[in-house]
Amino acid sequence: MPGCVGVLALQGAFREHIASLERLRVPTREVRGLKDMDGVDALVIPGGESTTMGKLLTDWEMLGPVRARIEAGMPVYGSCAGLILLCREIENSSQPRLGVLDAVVRRNAFGRQVDSFETMLDLPVLARPGEDNPPFPAVFIRAPVIVGVGPQVEVLAEVDGQAVAVRQGHVLATSFHPELTADSRLHRYFLEMCA
Ligand code: GLN
Repeated sequence: MPGCVGVLALQGAFREHIASLERLRVPTREVRGLKDMDGVDALVIPGGESTTMGKLLTDWEMLGPVRARIEAGMPVYGSCAGLILLCREIENSSQPRLGVLDAVVRRNAFGRQVDSFETMLDLPVLARPGEDNPPFPAVFIRAPVIVGVGPQVEVLAEVDGQAVAVRQGHVLATSFHPELTADSRLHRYFLEMCA
């Protein structure tokens, strides 16, 4: 278990991630500036608007230092807009990004806000000995998909043959929003990654 998980709190669904982590009894901290990163062992980047978050990370001079922490091994989990910010390449966009995940992402791949949906997703990595591993309730809101991955990237789940959950070592990313459900298994998986 990490000592303290930071949740990037510049914009988006950060409160919901904090609530999910608190249910797992891990200390959390809202990260609004670089100084909040002191003593943080892992970072969650929430859903929201990736262009806005990228701009704020740039304006607050956080993009380079946070990237350096991740490159030095700090575990990170990005959901939705957070996934977009982690990717090396964003289709048809030069927006600011961390670029630590060797993947190509397509934004808004399922259409507009009205095309948001929930689906039950098979996530075999969430299986634990002696526990059922029912499908995960995955909420997609103007969600991205991953359209290309490098050799180090493991695809954890797909929708219509497109990757929506991936892991590259200590970097975890999902197109959907586990923090909007009562199901803690994905956050638990991330905390185990941090161990
Ligand atoms: N479409 C948003 C973006 O491109 C992501 C949506 C979300 O995080 N729910 O940043």
